[in-house]
Amino acid sequence: MSQSEKSTIGTVSPARVTAGSVAMIERLVGFDTTSRNSNLELIHDVETYLSKLGVSSQLSFDDSGKKANLYATVGPAGRGGIALSGHSDVVPVDGQNWSSDPWTVRHDNSRLYGRGTCDMKGFIAVALSHVPRFLEADLQIPIHLCLSFDEEVDCGGAKRLMTFLQSQDVVPLACVIGEPTEMQVVTAHKGGIGYRCDVRGLECHSSLAPQGVNAVQAAARMIAQLDEMARRRAVDGPFDYDYDVPHTTIQAGVIQGGTALNIVPKDCSFEFEFRNLPDDDISGLFAEVTDFARTRIEPDMKAIEEACGFSWQELCHYPAFSLAEDSDLVTLVKSCAQANATTKVAFSTEAGCFQSQGIATIICGPGSIAQAHKPDEFITLEQLGACEAFMGRLIERLSNPGIRDLNF
Ligand SMILES: [Zn+2]
Repeated sequence: MSQSEKSTIGTVSPARVTAGSVAMIERLVGFDTTSRNSNLELIHDVETYLSKLGVSSQLSFDDSGKKANLYATVGPAGRGGIALSGHSDVVPVDGQNWSSDPWTVRHDNSRLYGRGTCDMKGFIAVALSHVPRFLEADLQIPIHLCLSFDEEVDCGGAKRLMTFLQSQDVVPLACVIGEPTEMQVVTAHKGGIGYRCDVRGLECHSSLAPQGVNAVQAAARMIAQLDEMARRRAVDGPFDYDYDVPHTTIQAGVIQGGTALNIVPKDCSFEFEFRNLPDDDISGLFAEVTDFARTRIEPDMKAIEEACGFSWQELCHYPAFSLAEDSDLVTLVKSCAQANATTKVAFSTEAGCFQSQGIATIICGPGSIAQAHKPDEFITLEQLGACEAFMGRLIERLSNPGIRDLNF
């Protein structure tokens, strides 16, 4: 470790952040790993960094060969151990008004600005910058580093990583996903399911509007109904007040349609999602949407042209996840985070993928989800420092022979 890596930058006590973590976050943010791009430059850079420390990486690629997961193990082989997992991809900056280049970390007082600083290259940077300390420590069980792709799309990377893990002799028994929770310990989250709707209308000159079928306006009627459903759930529930947003949410996030003001638009498509409480019936919700389209909107469209109407496609499906409060992982992570409580969150992660493989999974990472996906995304040095303190305690606990008696 160089002298500069030992020095501290943070000014907010008690958590301080080392220059090594800050340099690593600058390095990672410098790669534009928007989900539509290849992430291989970042992955190969991390592979090189680890290999210089004597740690070998295994990559698992997507079908195109342009994206890869990275999996690397530090510490004694032959035992399950704990995975530290993060997604390498970030959401687009398109159309967002940034005050500075999103791909160059900007320091401002106690914050670091840049795409992915919070979601979630901050956690990855702290984990990677601690590899020298993982190596120096007398770890009794291994730490596995997992970097995935396409979390922001459909968790395709994590699903591929699960297939990869099935080919391994030994797999992690537990996983900490460092999504931004402000270092709170999260043991459950909602499920999510996304759909695309294509609306087919009938084109004509706008002066003859009643002779056409306006796809944009048909889509708007459907979206207004989605909004109505969302409002109803916010008022009537069901509710679970352990979540920051205590009910199922429904929203449309993308819409495209029409070509010119004087043409009745033939096509419109939009994407929408449900983020559901585990007990809320998603299939019932979707049926409510398609029933409304079929009985309330399509009859008007089909009266003019039979081929007009709605078609639906499922885009992504994140299962809800929950971890038993009495599991060894909850106790360990609470002690490392110095938290005396656990919480649940509304946003989805790759946790359901790990859990589907029988890997006990928990979410705990630096930064606030409130800063994620927005222009001028940032993370505070205080949060990075808290994550470093977490890693320090994790190393301590995993170096204690007693850890071998637990379910890791
Ligand atoms: Zn994320």
